[in-house]
Parts: sequence; C-alpha cells; structure tokens
Amino acid sequence: MSPQWIVVIGLIAVIYFMFIKKRPQVKQDKKDSTDKTTKKEAQSNDMVACAECGIYCEIDDTILSNNKYYCSQECLKKS
Ligand SMILES: [Zn+2]
Repeated sequence: MSPQWIVVIGLIAVIYFMFIKKRPQVKQDKKDSTDKTTKKEAQSNDMVACAECGIYCEIDDTILSNNKYYCSQECLKKS
C-alpha cells in the first residue's frame, strides 16, 4: 500500500467520523426532547483547562486521562 492511499483513507475516516458525529444531534432535535438538548448544549460548551499547557478547550475536544484533561495528544505525551 502506497503512502498516498494511507492519506486518502485517513481523510475519508475523518470525514466519516465528522458525519457520524453530526447525525445524532439532528436526530435528538427531531425527537424534541427539550431537557436532553439543553443538557447536551451545556456539556458541549463546558471549557476545561489543559493539565499540561493550561489552554482552555471545549470539553468535547479534550482527551481525558487519569481524570485530567489534555488539549492534544502532544500534551498527553508530555505529562
Ligand atoms: Zn495542552
């Protein structure tokens, strides 16, 4: 397998993942469960400080390890 294919497959995986991530939110909106929607919005807007560099990130974008939040894999490796 050539390196080009690995890049292409990686891109497809990222697009696929983003697409899947968006879908459940749309479904929940259609189900019209107001309480769940409110809770989910509150969760996704929560900001946490990276345990390594202190940068604030949305909780959805962070990596949770040993009860600490990291903004990226790099910070996770540094700790
Ligand atoms: Zn960090």
